[in-house]
Amino acid sequence: MKIFCKSIFIVLAILLPMTLLSQKAEVKRIDPPFWWSGMKSNSLQLMVYGNNISVTQPKISDTSVFLKQVISVESPNYLFLDLDISSAKAGVFNIEFFNGKKKVISIVYQLKSRELNPDEMTGFDNSDAIYLLMPDRFANGNPDNDDMPGMLEKANRSNPNGRHGGDIQGIVNNLDYIKDLGATSIWINPLLENNMPAYSYHGYAVTDLYKVDARFGTNDDYKNLVRTAHKKGLKIIQDMVFNHLGTNYFWKDDLPSQDFYNQWPEFTRSNYRGGAVNDPHASDYDYQKMVKGWFDVSMADLNQKNPLMANYLIQNSIWWIEYLGLDGIRQDTYPYPDKDFMAEWMRRVLEEYPNYNVVGEVWLSFPPAVAYWLENDKNADGYHSNLTNVFDFPLMYAISKAFNEKEGWSSGSAQLYETLSQDYVYSDPMNLVVFADNHDGDRLYSKLDEDINKYKLAMAFLFTTRGIPQIYYGTEILMTGHEHDGHGFIREDFAGGWDGDENNAFTSVGRTPEQNEAFNFLRRLMNWRKSSKAVQNGKLTHYLPENGIYVYFRHTKEESVMVMLNNTNEDKEVDLSRFAENIEGFETGKSVLNRMYFDKLDTIVVPAKSPLIIELEE
Ligand code: CA
Repeated sequence: MKIFCKSIFIVLAILLPMTLLSQKAEVKRIDPPFWWSGMKSNSLQLMVYGNNISVTQPKISDTSVFLKQVISVESPNYLFLDLDISSAKAGVFNIEFFNGKKKVISIVYQLKSRELNPDEMTGFDNSDAIYLLMPDRFANGNPDNDDMPGMLEKANRSNPNGRHGGDIQGIVNNLDYIKDLGATSIWINPLLENNMPAYSYHGYAVTDLYKVDARFGTNDDYKNLVRTAHKKGLKIIQDMVFNHLGTNYFWKDDLPSQDFYNQWPEFTRSNYRGGAVNDPHASDYDYQKMVKGWFDVSMADLNQKNPLMANYLIQNSIWWIEYLGLDGIRQDTYPYPDKDFMAEWMRRVLEEYPNYNVVGEVWLSFPPAVAYWLENDKNADGYHSNLTNVFDFPLMYAISKAFNEKEGWSSGSAQLYETLSQDYVYSDPMNLVVFADNHDGDRLYSKLDEDINKYKLAMAFLFTTRGIPQIYYGTEILMTGHEHDGHGFIREDFAGGWDGDENNAFTSVGRTPEQNEAFNFLRRLMNWRKSSKAVQNGKLTHYLPENGIYVYFRHTKEESVMVMLNNTNEDKEVDLSRFAENIEGFETGKSVLNRMYFDKLDTIVVPAKSPLIIELEE
């Protein structure tokens, strides 16, 4: 018996490696699926995935593509190929995988010719106004894709946290609506595949970084959306997530190596305290938990310290920019990934696209904490993010409070004044994206007690202060919702986006009188902003709020706009002599919102709880 066991052991010891070798190697997937010739970077790293691929020896016969290095990892089912494509022409070449002398697999790989001229790509800037929409909740242009084979979660419109069927076609169908409102750019919550069993509609648990979710459409549909938007003069900003992936990512049972994810002995959440990353007094315990803790059980935390993981993400973002001709990126949970990796990512993006824009979600309450992340060489620890834009969360909080509060030394419009007075911490405060609400918090109209006068004040401020304004879909029709009721309630379906909806708020006849009042107010404001260089790019000069009136100017050499916000419940007559330094040289004024004329600039009555936006004239 003993001898028998020993023989079996010997036989197995000989057979097992042979079996591994003789098991047919295969290639199931190569990421990126194709690339381009003529990129600034000479390097391309391919991740080849397939059973036992690591037992083969890859070769490239094309003389213009040089295989610099082949990298094996823990799993035998991956190879990473480092290519030098500096002299490669557009076209196809073969990657051949050998077993000894025998060629076992041959794969055709394509380098496309570039359709874009990176120097002509301008990104987004202060002339833009961004419309944020959640694709599952905006409009269902194709009910046939609501449920798709292989997709785990089926549509269920009665579940606030379920999928409702909105899609890319729904966005295409309503581009004219968005353009008519006066937006110039659309930030779309993630469109990539989220094949998770539940709560997948929001898009932040990506399960394939190279594929649009089938319930939204196809990669071609996305490309068509970008092309159609561009024809209408609208820009598209893609929402990207480098901090985590859905736990159902295709490699879930077969990670290239365990350290692709930040692993913990047991499930450990992030502490969500972004400040721990730049806090000079932070404990290592808090820092590690912040950047390596998982965002959620369904969201695996990525280890960008692994250079293969890091490169996988960087190339993916460049792939989408190049494939679609994207105008910008919104990067989720900005302080959560490794910050040196994020700076390197931005360097690589700007190397390929020198005028590009990326706005980072730095969800922190105080200007210095946010300013740390805006490309900035003033940080005491030497950190330079290379990030071109950040969201202005501190100003969002100020807007949310200012119009609900009684005017006081530090309350009411002083919230706005005080927040803006801290702009010296930013390398350039014009690069902040300003907003009053988004998909993660209470809707603006709910925050303002559903008071349309407060709403008009908030919108007038948002579209005339410094920075790049952003609104959230439905804000223009006074959609409501509190986060404490659940995220589904701040991301409700846009009325009229679904066949059979009772009201179609995409049309004036489908809106209530109050919705039309809000929509028309915003439409006038946003379309006027498109033509006002002073409001887009002019200097901001503001005056201490007095008697409940906050006055500021946006001015260039040629133009000046005076904004007066009356945050009290009384009409107020304002003596303009205090503003002489900004009024000098101007004789009259024209109200932007209601076509009133002011033939003298001495005193102006600002109606209770109302904004006045006045273009000054010589
Ligand atoms: Ca659909």
